[in-house]
Amino acid sequence: INSKLPNVGTTIFSIMSKMANDHGAINLAQGFPDFPVSPQLIDRVHHYMKQGFNQYAPMPGVPVLRKAIADKTERCYGWRPNEDQEITVTCGAIEAINSTISALIHAGDEVIIMDPAYDAYEPIINLQGAKAIGVPLRKTDYSIDWQAVESKITDRTKMIMINSPHNPSGAIISADDLRNLEMLTSGTDIFILSDEVYEHILFDGDLHQSVLRSEELRNRSIVTSSFGKTFHATGWRMGYLVAPTGIMAEVRKVHQYNTFTIHTATQYAIADYLADASNYESVAPMYQQKRDFFLNKMASSKFKPIPAKGTYFQLMDFSAISDTGDVEFSEWMTKEIGVATIPMSVFYQDKQDNKVLRFCFAKDEETLAAAAEKLCAL
Ligand code: GLN
Repeated sequence: INSKLPNVGTTIFSIMSKMANDHGAINLAQGFPDFPVSPQLIDRVHHYMKQGFNQYAPMPGVPVLRKAIADKTERCYGWRPNEDQEITVTCGAIEAINSTISALIHAGDEVIIMDPAYDAYEPIINLQGAKAIGVPLRKTDYSIDWQAVESKITDRTKMIMINSPHNPSGAIISADDLRNLEMLTSGTDIFILSDEVYEHILFDGDLHQSVLRSEELRNRSIVTSSFGKTFHATGWRMGYLVAPTGIMAEVRKVHQYNTFTIHTATQYAIADYLADASNYESVAPMYQQKRDFFLNKMASSKFKPIPAKGTYFQLMDFSAISDTGDVEFSEWMTKEIGVATIPMSVFYQDKQDNKVLRFCFAKDEETLAAAAEKLCAL
């Protein structure tokens, strides 16, 4: 087979989840919660399925959900997208990213991504015959070096992808970062694809700086988010995207022949659930407590935590324990210690190994305590 992705294997998340299962390890690798979805939300899904909402939804998503997303966006970021033209419900954020890049990026284009980045971005860009241009995040705190971004802009730059809160580092962008992005791209037609799937998971009082707060940026931006992350239901594959009418029209051309629509009853259920803002506003304090619980339990270990400001991931430096490569070390930890994690090198274009692992703390306290006990013995 003449592979379109010759350098791509199976995603690390599948590999580590399988290894965790095979060896009975506690899975802090792939990012998913191990605690239940709200019974009230599940009841709403049942309710709509029993009421007969079991056929195709409208291609862009059911109107009540698009309205609820517009309401949430206005409440959170002070600007209301047009619910008919500017919102589309997608099969997880990954379909939003795939459909957006398929619709907007041509062969030979360049897309600037941060390095490290979520592992899906580069292959999705490459599938279009385009190139992912990595800009190193600052080594100290994974913040964006805007001069470095500027130095990578060429006449082939079609899009800049940003991701805040950032997977895998847990770093977040500030209002200053938004201003830098405005200055760098104003007067250009460079698209911004902003992956904001952890928009409701920020800690210590920090506010999420959505690109939708900026009038200058939102005219060229595609923003994606995920109810899987916000409502602990990653298996429901419920995401959405917000984009200006002209861009959205192009993205919907792909979405309609990609997944076409998403599970109908779940859309109605989430629309109801979004009506109570506390259902998404309570998510950040809940995760902050988990992060702090995990850090507290790990305090006596030799792992050195790298501060996380958002997401449900915590990076830890293991260089005081071992000088083996991070891929090998995480494999050993899964098999011999019984705790699975993600080696950070997989997120870098050059697979650089800084002896750092990513731990998912979207887990019950018992799970986190059991993992920490094993890790503190190292
Ligand atoms: N986003 C999840 C993570 O970072 C993984 C999703 C997946 O496995 N495709 O762990």
